[in-house]
Amino acid sequence: MKALTSVAVAILSLSAAGAALAQDFPGSKSITFVVPFAAGGPTDRVARDLAEAMRKPLNGASINVENAAGAGGTIGANKVARAKNDGYTLLLWHIGMASTPALYRKLPFKPLEDFEYLGLVNEVPMTLLGKPQLPANTYRDFENYIRANSGKLNLAHAGLGSASHICGLMWQSAVKLNESMTTIPFGGTAPAMTNLIGGQVDVMCDQTTNTTGQIEAGRVKAFAVTTAKPLSTHKLLKDYPTLNEMGLKGFDLSIWHGLYAPKGTPEAILKQLNDALKVALKDPEFIKKQEGLGAVVVTDKRMERAQHKEFVSKEIDKLKPVIEAAGKFAD
Ligand code: ASP
Repeated sequence: MKALTSVAVAILSLSAAGAALAQDFPGSKSITFVVPFAAGGPTDRVARDLAEAMRKPLNGASINVENAAGAGGTIGANKVARAKNDGYTLLLWHIGMASTPALYRKLPFKPLEDFEYLGLVNEVPMTLLGKPQLPANTYRDFENYIRANSGKLNLAHAGLGSASHICGLMWQSAVKLNESMTTIPFGGTAPAMTNLIGGQVDVMCDQTTNTTGQIEAGRVKAFAVTTAKPLSTHKLLKDYPTLNEMGLKGFDLSIWHGLYAPKGTPEAILKQLNDALKVALKDPEFIKKQEGLGAVVVTDKRMERAQHKEFVSKEIDKLKPVIEAAGKFAD
């Protein structure tokens, strides 16, 4: 009886401590968005824009971005899964949350159990690119060139399970050119892009948030976009065909980003973070920046915590057979 009472007291004082903590959140302490890829790349870009837009609704809190790159994003994700669950360390990750369970035999965290879901942020189409020296100017020429040079070219990506990796796999599988290129992993598509521009790698499929500026400046060649429908409202990307209309019927890939906290973060803090995220998603400045880079800011129910989780759970089920048909696995 005595023991029970002290347990009850301990629980009571713990929840009181949680409530006090939530009341002060974020206070004068900085929040960190962990980006599990290199600085200057597409996920980093979303994180920095989002950090700026979430500042105001979080009472002017400072939000830092920390790049923890490696292993397709799983190193940074694991870092947040193990971080203190006080709302100050958050993860900004993408489709990797749903692709890595199918690709890693020993994933060090459980996507649906080790995180609190804070809301989906955006959807981002991808573009199929070649180095500037590639002797192809249309999608048809590009596909023929890869076919004719099977085994001789390389494909850059941001690690197993990254968006660029999934896109490369899906494309090679759709054109029946599996294993036609040597894959070269980078810590993110920012360094991969530098190598593509420099001609050290031949091909990459990357998010429009990282490619639009490079395509516009003529530093890389773009051959197609990965959405089922053309990007007809985007001033630059509207000029590129979809893979779907190039004969890869049904090809439709847009990747997404979401925000996460470690499991067990106090409910009141989760609500505060989700409220701030929803304010950011309606911020005209944030929307304008994202749209300029071809991304679509989430406007539907997936900005809610429960719907975000439900969406990711469905994506895990959707991606598993696709990856297993085309995939390469890591331990
Ligand atoms: N999101 C990665 C990055 O920011 C790229 C990728 O997933 O392909 O570098």
